[in-house]
Amino acid sequence: MVLDPGHGGIDPGASSGDGTLEKDLALAFAKRVAAELEGVPGLAVRLTRTDDSFLSLNRRIRVARAYGADLFVSIHADAAPQNFVHGASVYTLSERPSDAEAAALAARENLSDAVSGVIEPEVKEDVSDILADLMRRETKTFSHAFADTMVSNLGEAVRMNSNPHRFARFRVLMAHDFPSVLLELGYLTNNEDSQTLTDPLWQERAAQAVSRAVARFFDLPPPPELAARPAANAAAPTQ
Ligand code: ZN
Repeated sequence: MVLDPGHGGIDPGASSGDGTLEKDLALAFAKRVAAELEGVPGLAVRLTRTDDSFLSLNRRIRVARAYGADLFVSIHADAAPQNFVHGASVYTLSERPSDAEAAALAARENLSDAVSGVIEPEVKEDVSDILADLMRRETKTFSHAFADTMVSNLGEAVRMNSNPHRFARFRVLMAHDFPSVLLELGYLTNNEDSQTLTDPLWQERAAQAVSRAVARFFDLPPPPELAARPAANAAAPTQ
């Protein structure tokens, strides 16, 4: 499975009042989830970016495909026009948005490429339309199933948005051949969210919930608590 930390490089994404950048938060969170998932045997986890570099939206899909992605989770923590909007939500692809706010969010996310000055055409699939359509339908079913699993697992751990599973036309979710969701951890424009999102304990709790959702999606046992694992690189205790 592939984790996609949103934004990066010259595209900082959203920012909070105290200067937290979405691109940094997304990367740190993706690394936490990857660390959690390391404890699940039979699961290979890759990140589309592991440092502060810029990737176009198409490139994220291509990188995921090159890694043989069977699940794609794009990680974000965006801004909302109203500062009372709060909580985590999970988005899946749809030509018709679930609501106006989801549509506006997707429009902003889709502008990410413009920051780099290079706007690529939308992904052209090199398979027949009929085949791509069949795959897209199957992929959509899996994307929705995973989004529901993610919402229920996250909902046990962190504060959710009042409408936690929404749809919009996100370009980064347009792969026809693997299920994709976009996770909004919360809103950096909401004071309470921006405080909790930068709290390491909150991040750990949320990362565990995301990892449990991933494991359940693949019918694998849940990741063991990090603290309960043997520390592979720990220095030998001094006697
Ligand atoms: Zn974002």
